[in-house]
Amino acid sequence: MKNLDKRFLLSLMSLLLANFILSSEVNIYTSRHYDADDELYEKFTKNTGIKVNIISGSGSALMERLKAEGKNSPGDVFFTVDAGNLSRFQKEGFLQAISSQKIKSIVPKELRGPNDEWVAIAKRARVVFYNPDKVSPEEIKNITYEDLASDKWRKRIAIRSSSNMYNQSLVASLISNNGIEETEAWAKRFVRNFARSPQGNDRAQILAVANGLADIAIANSYYIGVMLSGRGGQEQYEAAQRVRVAFPNQLNRGTHVNISGGGILKYAPNKSNAERFLEFLLSEEAQKHIVNNTFEYSVLNNVEPNSAIAQFGSFISDQTSVADFGKFNPDAVRLMDRVGWR
Ligand code: FE
Repeated sequence: MKNLDKRFLLSLMSLLLANFILSSEVNIYTSRHYDADDELYEKFTKNTGIKVNIISGSGSALMERLKAEGKNSPGDVFFTVDAGNLSRFQKEGFLQAISSQKIKSIVPKELRGPNDEWVAIAKRARVVFYNPDKVSPEEIKNITYEDLASDKWRKRIAIRSSSNMYNQSLVASLISNNGIEETEAWAKRFVRNFARSPQGNDRAQILAVANGLADIAIANSYYIGVMLSGRGGQEQYEAAQRVRVAFPNQLNRGTHVNISGGGILKYAPNKSNAERFLEFLLSEEAQKHIVNNTFEYSVLNNVEPNSAIAQFGSFISDQTSVADFGKFNPDAVRLMDRVGWR
């Protein structure tokens, strides 16, 4: 081979290599703001050599950004909490169907969005927290979401506002199971049982129960893990010791389960890296990291919850498709407004 040809071949190879290295990245749009997620992204890079770039912001901010970027968006993956939020992005046409058979074989159908445009990465239950000094075991045993509207709970319940997606998805799940009319009649009575006008986040509801401002609270399961870990400070740690957990609807359809989840953005320039990233999040390694740091439940049956959460026992999960939380979200929002759930 002539020297000139060799030089040409070498420069061609280095060009290809440079291109390969440059394209070995994945751009994650996320509104999850957990420090532990950063460690997860580092693990992915270590395993695959694919660089992770994080673009974080509120759901609405990311939505505006994606609209402005259009087809030129560098976004590959969207990762967030609550099926309702994933649905919002799907309805805007920001996502594409996930084709990875590996992902579909791991995530059961009821934990995926319509057309497989998003999938669960972790699970959370919306449970009842109660003060054992104020609520008898007899009262709380066999509790259902439906029961929470009965007069015996008058002015005893703490729950955050209806603008919160967790509550919108809970109400959407009730609509999916009981219909709009029945759910509206339920909600009318339920709001009369509020111990105070809705305020604060989920942890504030658990604190209200611990401090005697309400007898029971509705909040997501992982918060008790965060509070017991001491990460939220001494006040939260002590409050968490004073409350107990009850899983609603154990004698019928099971406790309302929502998800953290992800999808591949429509114009993903690094689509195969996006797929690998989602596959990684569903690996045993990543799932163990998630359950032990965010205190969510694993999508994998063989990954146990963190002991801070496992101590409250196993429970039957509502199998209602998480896609329904998006489908019935507009009905849920209007219904909550009509009954005066602020
Ligand atoms: Fe949360």
